Amino acid sequence: MAVGKKDISCPPYVKGREIKAEDIKEGKVTYWEHHPDIRYSFTAGQAISRFLKGLKEGKLLATKCDHCGRIMFPPRMFCELCFRPVDEWCEVKDTGVVETFSVSYIDPDAKPLEEPVIVAVISVDGASPKMGFMHILGEVDPDDVYIGMKVKAVWKSESEREGSVTDIKYWKPLEG
Ligand SMILES: [Zn+2]
Repeated sequence: MAVGKKDISCPPYVKGREIKAEDIKEGKVTYWEHHPDIRYSFTAGQAISRFLKGLKEGKLLATKCDHCGRIMFPPRMFCELCFRPVDEWCEVKDTGVVETFSVSYIDPDAKPLEEPVIVAVISVDGASPKMGFMHILGEVDPDDVYIGMKVKAVWKSESEREGSVTDIKYWKPLEG
């Protein structure tokens, strides 16, 4: 039986072209426009949720590991050195020492600021060494800040506090 020759030719080649804005305006292009109202919520986790609740009450809460004796601030539920859950909650002071700092002349969108912001990592009194807490400094000239400077938290009033790290307005130099 003879085998017939199959037609293997391709469909006619269609040349594409760039879509122009007018094509969309004039409805020549099929498109879908949708503006979903999407809202996100997420949990801060056990440790930070309780920490934020403490801030609303004007307290700085930490956790302690009885195995290594460290007081962890900000708190966590697990000691990463001993590889075990922490044992108890405790309160640390709202005073501390500037561990390191940076003077920022731009905002998070890289726009110039009229007044620079001093961002600092603070070792809070009562927490174990090198437990840095990042916040901002106030009531001080950037030229006067130094590593080792003693600072104290300046809290919002009780009615203004909402369970956020901004419940502390800033940390100011502690005189004396
Ligand atoms: Zn530990």
